[in-house]
Amino acid sequence: MSRINVTSPLLPDRETFDKFIDRIFSSSRLTNCGPLVQELEASLEAYLGVKNVVLVSNGTLALQIAYKLLDIKGEVITTPFTFISTASSLVWDGLDVVFADINAGTFNLDPLDVENKITPETSAIMPVHVFGNPCEAEKIQELADKHGLKVIYDASHAFGVKFKGESILNLGDVSTLSFHATKLFHTIEGGALIINDDELCAHARKMLNFGFSGFESIDCLGINAKMNEFQAAMGLSLLPQMDEVIRKRKALSECYDSLLSKKFVSQSFQSETERNYSYYPIVFSDEAALLRAQHALNKKDIFPRRYFFPSLNELDFLDRSEAPKSTGLSKRIICLPLYNDLTTEVCSTIAGIILEASGGAQ
Ligand SMILES: *Cc1c(COP(=O)(O)O)cnc(C)c1O
Repeated sequence: MSRINVTSPLLPDRETFDKFIDRIFSSSRLTNCGPLVQELEASLEAYLGVKNVVLVSNGTLALQIAYKLLDIKGEVITTPFTFISTASSLVWDGLDVVFADINAGTFNLDPLDVENKITPETSAIMPVHVFGNPCEAEKIQELADKHGLKVIYDASHAFGVKFKGESILNLGDVSTLSFHATKLFHTIEGGALIINDDELCAHARKMLNFGFSGFESIDCLGINAKMNEFQAAMGLSLLPQMDEVIRKRKALSECYDSLLSKKFVSQSFQSETERNYSYYPIVFSDEAALLRAQHALNKKDIFPRRYFFPSLNELDFLDRSEAPKSTGLSKRIICLPLYNDLTTEVCSTIAGIILEASGGAQ
């Protein structure tokens, strides 16, 4: 077997991709909200079941535009069990990160602990739908309404996820997506804001283009977060494949489940969720057991990833508050390889190595 990583980027059918590239060459439109970006926005709105998709050059800039768009100031309550950019983007923009702890079963922010962390300086809550598991959105919205706070969902893992039949990207004031090459759906680098309010959406479109509203008018503070036409070409080529990709990942996940679920705890999903199978996490009894399995896999050229490690409340430049559930989970969790070209045979091999390193199958 050749090297197996936690993920491998999805590549489009070459002929489909080339047709979009031909369009770029014949139009000479390379960037600045060109026709392919506009087409991808419309296609994503239809596919995801959301009103407005605003494409940007990466998921971190999507978050940063959301902060300025909603005029976030002071403290933002978020989770330490996430990818670094959720929290570092806040600090980069001069905002104060305040961590609340997670629910150890769902891996998502615990609304009860969020409430404990609200102060007069709090202006927003930023939950993450970790590994595509919908947050407890009703409780979070109640807290936000009670205390006059904005809600930004870092929905980077939630492409295509539905709860009770509706896209979870419609939750909160703004949701953001990442379309990085390692994500379920991607545009090489890229991201999006999902904004229900049309006026806010129009404002976001100016912000991502230096604040321009025309060649000679600059309406507001802006930045350069434009997606280019080559990125959109990748997205347009991959989007028609996504239902099939998710079905394939579901089958691979079920293969892992059938071999591992007796021995290992995984994530508990909200019921009535239509999942996207973006990650396959398993939780070990302790860090030593995790390291034994990781070592055994690495010896066979298999490289799972410790998502998320360390828990972000362990980092010096972030909030060092105690978050025992996040800290505990981050030491014991690993995401197994899961991508479109993986086979159930390889999943079985991986599960076998893990079971053997953990004292044999039962
Ligand atoms: C990937 C990711 C991001 C960052 O997105 P980029 O497109 O890489 O900038 C932010 N938050 C979460 C939870 C992510 O997984």
